[in-house]
Amino acid sequence: MELTNKFFLLAVIFFLLIVPLAAQQKKDSSLVFDDISGWMSYLTSDRLKGRVEGSVENREVTDSIAAYFKLLGLKPFKSDNFLQTFYRHPDDSTITTSNVIACLPGTEKPDEYILLSAHFDHVQIGYYNKKDKIYNGANDNASGTSVLLALARQLSMTGPHTRSILFCAFNAEEAGLIGSTHFSENINARQIVAGINLEMLGYPQFGKNTIMLTGMLKSDLYSLLKKRMPGSGIRIRRERGDLFQRSDNYPFAKNGVPAHTLMASDDREPCYHSPCDELKRMNLPNMTSLTIGIQILIDGLLNGADTPKRIDSADLQ
Ligand SMILES: [Zn+2]
Repeated sequence: MELTNKFFLLAVIFFLLIVPLAAQQKKDSSLVFDDISGWMSYLTSDRLKGRVEGSVENREVTDSIAAYFKLLGLKPFKSDNFLQTFYRHPDDSTITTSNVIACLPGTEKPDEYILLSAHFDHVQIGYYNKKDKIYNGANDNASGTSVLLALARQLSMTGPHTRSILFCAFNAEEAGLIGSTHFSENINARQIVAGINLEMLGYPQFGKNTIMLTGMLKSDLYSLLKKRMPGSGIRIRRERGDLFQRSDNYPFAKNGVPAHTLMASDDREPCYHSPCDELKRMNLPNMTSLTIGIQILIDGLLNGADTPKRIDSADLQ
């Protein structure tokens, strides 16, 4: 690890340490807002150059998320340091990639997992239009990652819960769902009761406090979440487009897991995969209310009351 990386990692950890102390008198929403704005400004900084898989900046992010999981008191999952590392060999090169995975063990049903996930990698400089301009990937997917990390703190403060929760910060999504596929090949899919993947939650394209669930008719997860909409402050609108196969829920869905993606915007968002996908376009108060609302929507999954039907992989063709 380079000295500069060490410095920034320490700065992040320092920030994360002082927030909870100050937070004891704060309402939940203000702590969630602080978490989200802290992670968003870190993840979208030009210094991290879009967190491209295989870069030193991507490696720094894995270390920062792992340090945060440790700080929250979460448990590593099938590793001793929260990292699930694997190697890829495109064009005869070697890319070292790590997912960052943490577990909050359940009380009564510890072998039943609810998977909460988001990818934190984005695409490299000039990937789409060859301009030398950084793709910060604020909406895609610093936003989903920040909501995931804010949820990790909230759920570790309110837990433990009946079922175990796996917090999965996936890598190499942009290269073709590589990190989530690797993870799905190393876990018994039968143990995953449901998967909620978080994507593009920073730009409220469908209106304030409004999200959609991809593949809404492929399982009954949609109706289970919808049942908890009153009181959550958020609205789940009808799915637009067909994005079910396009994100990290899909490797799990192929194995029968009712795994879907929650999104507040889609690939018709004007700055999708463009250099203009930047922090200044993100709506942090809306991300805060979405985080609080999602926690309410998934409560039945966490406390064991809700069990969605398995996906029949024949239906995915
Ligand atoms: Zn994405």
